Amino acid sequence: MKVEIIAVGSELLLGQITNTNATFISSRLAEIGVDVHYHTVVGDNPNRLQDVIKIAESRADVLIFSGGLGPTKDDMTKETIASHIGSSLVNDDEALQYIENYFKRTNREMTENNKKQALVLKGAIVLDNRTGMAPGMAVKNEEIHYILLPGPPHEMQPMLVDEAIPYLLGVIGKQEVITSRVLKFYGIGEAELEHLIQPILEKQSNPTVAPLATAEAVTLRITAKSGSVGEANKLIDPVEEEIRGIVGDYIYGMDDDTLSSKAMELLKKKGFTLSAAESITAGLFMAELANQPGVSSSLVGGVVVYNNDVKVTQLGVEENLLGEYGVVSKECAASLAVNVQRKFTSSVGVGITGAAGPTPHDGEPVGIVWIGIVLPDETPVTYKLDLSGTRNANRLRAARFALYYLIKELKR
Ligand code: ATP
Ligand code: MG
Repeated sequence: MKVEIIAVGSELLLGQITNTNATFISSRLAEIGVDVHYHTVVGDNPNRLQDVIKIAESRADVLIFSGGLGPTKDDMTKETIASHIGSSLVNDDEALQYIENYFKRTNREMTENNKKQALVLKGAIVLDNRTGMAPGMAVKNEEIHYILLPGPPHEMQPMLVDEAIPYLLGVIGKQEVITSRVLKFYGIGEAELEHLIQPILEKQSNPTVAPLATAEAVTLRITAKSGSVGEANKLIDPVEEEIRGIVGDYIYGMDDDTLSSKAMELLKKKGFTLSAAESITAGLFMAELANQPGVSSSLVGGVVVYNNDVKVTQLGVEENLLGEYGVVSKECAASLAVNVQRKFTSSVGVGITGAAGPTPHDGEPVGIVWIGIVLPDETPVTYKLDLSGTRNANRLRAARFALYYLIKELKR
């Protein structure tokens, strides 16, 4: 069974709202193993909607519409479908009763145009709207199923789950589950990752493995189809293990994890607090961490120590050390970490120093960054980066690498 989701609404095309209904419907259908082949968006225009329906009928068996079931003039989804399939709209007594009660209950005057909402396609199964007024409907015509859902997400979602999905399950007469697991990588490019796991990518069928680069990370999505979530997970487990065996070092988290959420999760788990002394990143590292709500229990604070004097006077980095090794050095990063840890009496200290560009800094080429991390009662560890981006890309990557290495250290 092939499904096409048709979202109706000019506000979607104008960029005023995002088509979250399509996302929601797709993910729910994936869970029951129903394949969505197309997402279409069309404005509130009967002719263009009709064009879209014709195309959808040629490539899908089930057309799921969202939007345009309301009382106003621009709501014309069911009218357009009725005329397209040569059917008509009939009054649904139950729906009308429900709408009248809805107005009584909410102490509002019912205007005449609201009666329009009780009109349904002739012969359709009416889908109850528990959280709004306009009912949805499901109707079959010449082997094609048309399912009409309201636009507002809080009305559409319960109707989909409680009414439309049982209808679809009845149509297919079986249940298949699609389950996904996402592995998140940092410190490795998409191309290199693909290259390293090429044999796994080649032999995949069920589960499938799909790489994807997002703004923050490179991800692999492992997706399995099976009779139940448990069985699907059993198919995913060995593939995940195989991937971890090859590139597990770069994995920092799974599913909805971000670098900052993972770092904070680990800090909390260990009962650690953290402070940071940032030179090249000038606060970006702490800003990334502070993306997480509730971070104040872990993040004590920190300092931006941009020029050398401040590193010495405010933080206590030894002048000799800067003279001997330079500011972009392993020694400086370690000293920043240790000194900020001491000064802020936090369990963990992080220091970041580097040459962001466009010109070399203190004799070090652009892109060289040193990250120092010190855990309680341990000697500091340092990591060197050799970045090749523009100035601000380097700064952001330095902050994210610091999170990534912090995660690594906290996992040890
Ligand atoms: P109403 O009775 O509220 O008019 P409707 O079924 O006629 O509902 P629309 O008028 O098309 O639906 O949309 C109503 C509202 O629902 C939109 O203003 C928007 O906030 C939300 N909405 C509509 N379509 C979508 C969509 N595809 N994704 C997310 N939200 C949507
Ligand atoms: Mg409307």
